[in-house]
Amino acid sequence: MMVEGIGMTSEGTRRRLIDRLRAKGITDERVLEAMADTPRHLFVDEALSSRAYEDTALPIGRGQTISQPYVVAMMTQAALGDRQGGRPLDKVLEIGTGSGYQAAVLARLAVRVFSTERIAELLRMARQRFHRLNLHNIFTRHSDGRHGWLTQAPFDAIVVTAGGEIPEALPDQLAEGGVLVAPAAAGHYQELVRITRTATGFERESLGAVSFVPLLEGLE
Ligand code: SAH
Repeated sequence: MMVEGIGMTSEGTRRRLIDRLRAKGITDERVLEAMADTPRHLFVDEALSSRAYEDTALPIGRGQTISQPYVVAMMTQAALGDRQGGRPLDKVLEIGTGSGYQAAVLARLAVRVFSTERIAELLRMARQRFHRLNLHNIFTRHSDGRHGWLTQAPFDAIVVTAGGEIPEALPDQLAEGGVLVAPAAAGHYQELVRITRTATGFERESLGAVSFVPLLEGLE
């Protein structure tokens, strides 16, 4: 096990990543702080831990990836929306637990995070990381997240970390004022979209092109 605070996983290395995110346009200090507090090297295999603070996606096994830090920051910032200095997020739903990194970042900004993953083995490892980091406000489920998590709805934010058609069930599980952030299929690429539930319906905005592993059906 890597000892925290040395070498490539040192405080300075982590700081440099945060500076880079700031330079790339991440402005929400709460997001930057949550990411500075989350040891990304513990979410990848030990063999890759020296690269954990590069701004790049990395493999986590089973053909999946831990998202690029900039993309995690952008999605988290979009999920927080204009709650600037306002009330924190209550319930957040994540589709695609993967390594657990995005959930761990969200857990520092929300009262409770619910996260679903379709690959049992990835979920098992993510749960161990949450336990080790004392992140007791993350609740996980081995399920097809395209159906959301009806018994816990409504959510202040839903973050989808796999790309495809936005599942029909999800917008309905938003609270009023809640936001869905998802990489939506748009031909050969994906477009990060934010859908906000208003009193009268839904508003959609585009946050730019992204590239995610696909949102798949059923369990593994
Ligand atoms: N948020 C993750 C990113 C992992 S990649 C992280 O921070 O590491 C996306 C994940 O979505 C993969 O683990 C993949 O297995 C999962 N996934 C894909 N389709 C899914 C579905 N329908 N339901 C739940 N998880 C899904």
